Amino acid sequence: DPVLSLEDVSISYGHVSAVTGVTLTLYAGETLALIGPNGAGKSTLLRGITNQTRKSNGKIRFGGRDISSTPPHRLTRAGIIHVPEGRQVVAPLTVRENLQLAARASRRCPRREIEASIDRVYDLFAPLARLRDTPSGLLSGGEQQMVAIGRALMARPVVLLLDEPSMGLAPVMVEVIYEFLGVHRDALGGTAILLAEQSRIALDVADRAAVLSCGQLGFVGPSSDLNESLL
Ligand code: ADP
Ligand code: ADP
Repeated sequence: DPVLSLEDVSISYGHVSAVTGVTLTLYAGETLALIGPNGAGKSTLLRGITNQTRKSNGKIRFGGRDISSTPPHRLTRAGIIHVPEGRQVVAPLTVRENLQLAARASRRCPRREIEASIDRVYDLFAPLARLRDTPSGLLSGGEQQMVAIGRALMARPVVLLLDEPSMGLAPVMVEVIYEFLGVHRDALGGTAILLAEQSRIALDVADRAAVLSCGQLGFVGPSSDLNESLL
């Protein structure tokens, strides 16, 4: 079933067009890799979906509802959870406090299920368990990215928008993050993931891939069909 559909979405910054005529459907439970070089428009598109950036044209539907102009906080409430690039954590708060806060702020995790959900995040990202009482600002980049994704999971996403989770990470941390993305289906049930990346690493965990270049979609199809020449 389609959970999120974009129809002819365009976004410009002044006269500069960053995203042009993007039509794309995300299905329940799938991971769709959005592949494109720096400046291709990936971040702009993710921000457009969550209405953090104004669209100049196009329609977005979530479970059949038109959400083209729904404000960001209501989209969070509805289960569209965005993890922007740059590891968004509340630095002075511990790992555990970050996860608790994310659960409360989203209002999507019942209060008495918060602790169990936190334990599930520790199951997914084992290194976080022993760091639970450490201020998040003291963690490594990779550990902070785990917290950022963990925070998103606390909101019980229906759609998870991940913006370049591997950016700036040591290879071993990229592996940990991607190991999670590879097994998420078991852990998350029907969550659909739109995963923006520059590198082809995203293809390893994606069901389908969409290639964005200069704001326009090219190839869209099974990630295994995306050969080197198309990137
Ligand atoms: P990305 O890796 O996604 O291209 P950038 O480093 O280019 O990210 O951008 C970082 C921040 O700067 C973002 O918040 C983005 O919106 C903003 N930004 C990027 N390009 C420009 C630009 N040409 N003018 C103004 N702001 C920009
Ligand atoms: P990507 O995420 O694929 O690196 P972006 O969405 O960050 O691409 O950027 C797409 C284009 O839009 C780039 O040319 C970038 O410079 C421009 N851009 C991004 N954010 C802004 C902004 N806030 N103001 C002006 N231009 C921007």
